[in-house]
Amino acid sequence: MSFDRRIYNFAAGPATLPSEVLEQARDELLNWQGLGASVMEISHRSKEFMAVYEKTLADLRELMRIPNDYEILLLQGGGIGQNAAIPMNLMPLAKKPKADFVVTGIWSEKSVKEAQKYGEAHIAASSQAQGFRSIPDQRTWTLSEDAAYVHICANETIGGVEFAGFPKLGKTPLVADISSNILSKAMNVSECGVLFAGAQKNIGPAGVTIVIVRKDLMGHAMPITPSIWDWAKEAANQSMFNTPPTFPIYVSGLVFEWIKRQGGVEEMERRSQLKSNMLYELIDGSSLYENRVDPMCRSRTNVTFFLKDEGLNAEFLEQSSAAGLAALRGHKAAGGMRASIYNAMPIAGVETLVEFMREFERRA
Ligand code: PMP
Repeated sequence: MSFDRRIYNFAAGPATLPSEVLEQARDELLNWQGLGASVMEISHRSKEFMAVYEKTLADLRELMRIPNDYEILLLQGGGIGQNAAIPMNLMPLAKKPKADFVVTGIWSEKSVKEAQKYGEAHIAASSQAQGFRSIPDQRTWTLSEDAAYVHICANETIGGVEFAGFPKLGKTPLVADISSNILSKAMNVSECGVLFAGAQKNIGPAGVTIVIVRKDLMGHAMPITPSIWDWAKEAANQSMFNTPPTFPIYVSGLVFEWIKRQGGVEEMERRSQLKSNMLYELIDGSSLYENRVDPMCRSRTNVTFFLKDEGLNAEFLEQSSAAGLAALRGHKAAGGMRASIYNAMPIAGVETLVEFMREFERRA
């Protein structure tokens, strides 16, 4: 299929970017800041790139209201990399290497598997037996006295399950995987010890991972920790212990400026609520579509749904993509459909999808 315009892209990540940002990156690609070179072609240590880097961090700090006792690291290796880095950096805080996990889907499950290489990964609660459709009530969690931290996935991208807020834990630091809901709503950073996210969903292109760490949690890494994932070493080197992903950092910076122009995180939250409500209302009112997630923890950024007549799946995907509504197939581990509606998905995109789904049901 070929299009002469931009489609509405519901991909889970890499995901759609604001057209305005792509246009700006295009316009300044060949001759950035009058240097006669692209931002991709200059030293990461040049004063021009360092200025972008500093501004990017300052804008993120402002947008997320990140307190000064938290370090922001821009690393490589994605959320998957942090699944290893987190136990290596934090488990030594406990007498013997151990952490608690709340398992609410495939991403938190992956975090458990990786952490097991470095210490004990205790499953404090899991919704696996119920098919990952809800978040276990905090009163049922079996938290350990001797865990270095508690890990949650704030938004399960595949299942479409989201924590409404961070659980209150007392003294054990909370580690939150915010890969798929960073900057989509106001978050109280000080309720967490560590937050991490890849850029390729709510922010920019793949290749840069944001790790926000309370400063007292740095400097305890296991000796085996690769230097590029030792948070204290990275912090001491302005996240440039090795060559950083300069282009993704630059585009992420443009997206932060775009979010600020739109009205900040509060406006992103308002839009995300509006967009997800539109879809859930349609799904709940329909006799063809269904969402299987507990309404208390439905994701605002990844709306999953099934066609009750699965025989219509192929037709649904074919017709939606012909209409310029791309990438609605659910993750292969979950089946069904998924509309990922991150910050850069316009409200008009969701309106078009809702209209298409209504029309498809009418014809079915
Ligand atoms: N956590 C969550 C919630 C995710 O959605 C993803 C990516 N889909 C990851 C972790 C892994 O991120 P990456 O591919 O950047 O390593």
